[in-house]
Amino acid sequence: MKKYTGKSVYSGVAIGKISVFKRREADVRRVRIDDIEAEKARLEKAKEQSLNQLQAIYEKALKEVGEANAQIFEIHMVMIEDEDYNESLNNIIENQSVNAEYAVAVTSDNFAAMFGAMEDSYMKARAADVKDISNRIINNLLSNDSGSEIGSDKVIICADDLAPSETVLLDKDKVLGFVTAFGSSNSHTAILARNMNIPAIIGVGSDFLNEIKDGDDAIADGFTGEFYVQPDPETTELLTQKQHEDEEKRRFLHNLKGKENVTLDGKKINIFANIGGVDNIGAVLLNDAGGIGLFRSEFLYLENSDYPTEEQQFTAYKKVLESMAGKKVIIRTLDIGADKQVDYFNLEKEENPALGCRAIRICLTRPEIFKTQLRALYRASVYGNLGIMFPMITSVQELTEILAICEDVKKELKEQGVEYSDSIELGIMIETPAAAIISDKLAPMVDFFSVGTNDLTQYTLACDRQNPHIERFCDTHHEAVLRLIEMSAENAHKHGAWIGICGELGADTTLTETFLRMGIDELSVSPGFVLKVRDTVRNIDLSK
Ligand code: PEP
Ligand code: MG
Repeated sequence: MKKYTGKSVYSGVAIGKISVFKRREADVRRVRIDDIEAEKARLEKAKEQSLNQLQAIYEKALKEVGEANAQIFEIHMVMIEDEDYNESLNNIIENQSVNAEYAVAVTSDNFAAMFGAMEDSYMKARAADVKDISNRIINNLLSNDSGSEIGSDKVIICADDLAPSETVLLDKDKVLGFVTAFGSSNSHTAILARNMNIPAIIGVGSDFLNEIKDGDDAIADGFTGEFYVQPDPETTELLTQKQHEDEEKRRFLHNLKGKENVTLDGKKINIFANIGGVDNIGAVLLNDAGGIGLFRSEFLYLENSDYPTEEQQFTAYKKVLESMAGKKVIIRTLDIGADKQVDYFNLEKEENPALGCRAIRICLTRPEIFKTQLRALYRASVYGNLGIMFPMITSVQELTEILAICEDVKKELKEQGVEYSDSIELGIMIETPAAAIISDKLAPMVDFFSVGTNDLTQYTLACDRQNPHIERFCDTHHEAVLRLIEMSAENAHKHGAWIGICGELGADTTLTETFLRMGIDELSVSPGFVLKVRDTVRNIDLSK
């Protein structure tokens, strides 16, 4: 038995045979050509063919994994027509009098190296995209099909890395899991794997591909990131049992669908879901969440290569509101900065970005961006039950400024005869100690609080949430954090506001009873945790 360890990007256990992903690598040779114009015409034809193929893949992805994930293929289409990329192709053909395949291969290597050298992990991951589009063009020039055939049995796909177009073209009914030598959790391939609900492990290292072959028995443990090849009987038995337990747990939790979130002594609570985009709504509905407690709207900005327009945002918000059919949808305004960097914002490099110009600070510094988002939100509000919340609040003055901007936006819309709902709830995130400590002053100004425990813990304990080396100093159950939550709950209720928790701690079922005793009204968790928290709530007795 051999064991490899990587990083899990989706949980679950896959047991089956290995299929090593075979990519038909094009054999590119440097050939001297005389007719440069004819060569350029060949290239144009191959590019056109590639664009048509990508359009078809985009449409398939749209149906299977949703708009946000399908967007990568739109980006690929844009990349094929990128000015710099094409200038390089044409220059190489013209200046060196060489064949188009060679020009594409050289350009691909140069651009991939350039992306690969970038510090930003998002840009780094684009190296795979440029290789992907270039291989497609080369294969079209050589009239090769690209891609790998999978046999009729279900298999665990093993690859060096998978390009997004390769991932989406795999037949989901035949794939038990993925294991790749490389890859980052930021890559679109990882995102697609997560959305396909398939156990997936990335980054197990390059050695494993030399040591495995088609048909080897294997087990991918998506809970731990461990991958076993030719597992011994003991491991197989253990992991088969783990797989059954996981299935059993899912089945059991499924039975809780449609049931109330009520304690044994009759206290009801809302259990909502956190989402990052329109595509996650399927999971929200599937897991029977009572609403959306946190829509991280910044993902709309992260997925785009330029500021999303008011219209683009309106369409996304409207879709979420309509899909939730009157259930509460709380959309958080832009929370960019710190670990969520977007190039086109051109943010200054900061010594301490978590303490820098992020989230609401950007919105108040650049109100035109903020107003565009608010206009889109107010316009969408007539399509459902909207709540808007603001991140990273530290003072009454900030909130006063925000509420004045909201009034401006409403006035402007009214003057333009644009409809918006009168019953939008406005709230703030309690994710700085300052906000918790002055929660008595903030509560009368809003309808609700939502505690962002990820940042509240980071700022209270002075522990960078991105730094894995200080995890032992970052006690998520620290009394200081719990006291701040309790204080915020008391102040919220004193002033007629409700309070929820939308940070990761909301899904920590060892604290559910503590939160209920504090009077927390809502817990908003990843869709996959909704039923687990419901189960816990239904077994709590607050009368004891
Ligand atoms: C939080 O800080 O707890 C939170 C929910 O926001 P994010 O994780 O997006 O910073
Ligand atoms: Mg936060």
